Amino acid sequence: MTHWYTLATWFRNRYGVRVQKIALDAGASCPNRDGSLSRTGCIFCDAHGSGSGLGGQGLHLAAQWQRWHDKYTATDPDRRFMAYLQSFSNTYGPASRLAAILDTVLGLPGCCGLAVGTRPDCLDAEKLELLARAAARLEAQTGFREVWLELGLQSAHDATLARINRRHTAACAADGVRQAADQGLLVCGHLMAGLPGEDETDFLQSVDWATDLPLSGIKLHNVFVPQGTELARQYLAGQYHPLARDEYVDILCAALPRIPARLVIHRLQSDPPPQSLLAPDWAALKRPLMTDLLRAMRARGLWQGCQADAPLHRPPWFDGPQPTRQGPV
Ligand code: SF4
Repeated sequence: MTHWYTLATWFRNRYGVRVQKIALDAGASCPNRDGSLSRTGCIFCDAHGSGSGLGGQGLHLAAQWQRWHDKYTATDPDRRFMAYLQSFSNTYGPASRLAAILDTVLGLPGCCGLAVGTRPDCLDAEKLELLARAAARLEAQTGFREVWLELGLQSAHDATLARINRRHTAACAADGVRQAADQGLLVCGHLMAGLPGEDETDFLQSVDWATDLPLSGIKLHNVFVPQGTELARQYLAGQYHPLARDEYVDILCAALPRIPARLVIHRLQSDPPPQSLLAPDWAALKRPLMTDLLRAMRARGLWQGCQADAPLHRPPWFDGPQPTRQGPV
């Protein structure tokens, strides 16, 4: 029994099946790394742009997909999959590049969903139209209409966005969310807790700002310090202190009740590659954190949306049906 609306439950509610996300690296770039906006990137971004780096090493999408697809289907042949274009800013560059990537991804065996990670300033009408058409094609092919745009919003505060070198404003991010939602896309906004210069109040203001936008999902991250980044330099110089584990649990206990219960929670913690994590140590251990969060939410009588659209009791859709191994196609 969860106290928030997980992505796994969303899939079971919509399709009756288990869907596994496979993170892919399409070899994208980013205007904040290639010199268009800056060459240094966001202060927490490492050389792989928050992804595997496999695309940059020449491993094409089909090979990356096959590796994970074969691993998961070996034990569960009925499992369905969603492609997640995670690294860098996947809508950056010409629309023809995005069109070619979408074509490849929609042809991957067993692919029934797509999530595209990007920056809010890398969207335009032509690219949003391509994504909307991909959603229609996916539905025609598989019965799943599941195309998510994962937008890095990070903070509602322009002073913080400047401090972390995002090179876009909160107004730009809000505009990107609205444009994508207007095209019928499912939009997941990413926010970070523990950003330099921010406290819990700042983060909760960002949560309130984001949940006023037409989002379908939200992803909350604790800031971790990757090796070799500007944030690492600040951390080693004693200028940045990551959140303590208990602080982050308390922040999530304050944030989740304000998030409407209809919003899907894609994730509640960072997923640092072990070789890249400089601090905090606790960020490497993900499952125990979620166990402690659930325990804290229960003990405090809280659930997602209890201070928003679900004040009386936990919504029944948080539990969902068990997987049926059927679903579309
Ligand atoms: S927008 Fe993303 S890929 Fe670009 S520098 Fe920032 S974190 Fe890295």
